[in-house]
Amino acid sequence: MKPLPRVNLDDKIFTLKYYVDEEYAHLKIRDPQVCRSCAEKPCLVFCPAGVYRAEREGGITVSYQACVECGSCRVACPYLNIEWDYPRGGYGVAYKFG
Ligand code: SF4
Ligand code: SF4
Repeated sequence: MKPLPRVNLDDKIFTLKYYVDEEYAHLKIRDPQVCRSCAEKPCLVFCPAGVYRAEREGGITVSYQACVECGSCRVACPYLNIEWDYPRGGYGVAYKFG
């Protein structure tokens, strides 16, 4: 069987179009204190869009505008500390090639 071509994730993300809702964040940290005590911070790794960034004081910044709605963070945060909702109608990511 012919192997699938290698794909650069950054190139794929570059093709997406975002309709940003500036008034409603569909992703939220439930309890910032839980993030400060979370030593491994796997959200910095499992999110393909780099939505989660570590703050100097140990907290997490959420750039919900860049979310590609893969759903990983709904299950991969070990403390279920991420509140996830769909973006409001008309907002969110649009996939150009399906
Ligand atoms: S994995 Fe969850 S609890 Fe840990 S830093 Fe990220 S959002 Fe916070
Ligand atoms: S749904 Fe996917 S892209 Fe969006 S924040 Fe969660 S892990 Fe990142």
